Amino acid sequence: RFITFEGGEGTGKSTQAARLVERLRARDLEVVQTREPGGSPGAEDIRAIALNGDAGRWSPVTETLLMFAARSDHLERTIRPALEAGRWVVCDRFADSSRAYQGVGGGTPAEFIEALDAAIVGATQPDLTLIFDLPVEVGLERAFGRGLFETRFESKGLEFHERLRMGFLAIAAAHPERCRIIDADGDQDTVAARVWAAVEARWP
Ligand code: C5P
Repeated sequence: RFITFEGGEGTGKSTQAARLVERLRARDLEVVQTREPGGSPGAEDIRAIALNGDAGRWSPVTETLLMFAARSDHLERTIRPALEAGRWVVCDRFADSSRAYQGVGGGTPAEFIEALDAAIVGATQPDLTLIFDLPVEVGLERAFGRGLFETRFESKGLEFHERLRMGFLAIAAAHPERCRIIDADGDQDTVAARVWAAVEARWP
């Protein structure tokens, strides 16, 4: 069972992914917790190349290829072996982040991203994708407050983040069988309860 967490900056998805993993492990389930870009040694190396550097270092298409190169290694080395061993995989960001950041945000053509997704991700699509939704100002304030603005991505303007949010909502609408929107406005326990409800609804 493959669950992905998606959403913009400061939506709390990483915290909630960790909480879900804890809750699943408390039920004696074997869970692999991972993230993108990264999640395997090679993919973490690519993450450093992709995320560090000046704004505009990579063209949107090059950035897309770097993300999918990392994703390919992550799938081969971490995700598929775990799923084949019967483990749960909980991943903080996956291909929908490419659709939103490189596609809607960066302007990479959607057909290019979908072709890569078909070739690289193929049948290893998430069983459940939780899209964390939050007003942009709230998310950015949370992220600023925690001093998380460490890469060039977060320093883009408000308009970019608004576009991103609309992008994620459009992805959810385009993949209703896989995606659930999680209202991320609320305290941690409230949001954790929403996450658990979505997981329970998917696997009663
Ligand atoms: O998950 P987290 O927010 O820590 O992601 C790290 C950074 O990588 C984010 O700032 C995000 O903007 C960026 N990113 C990206 N494209 C992806 C995945 C992540 O620009 N496909």
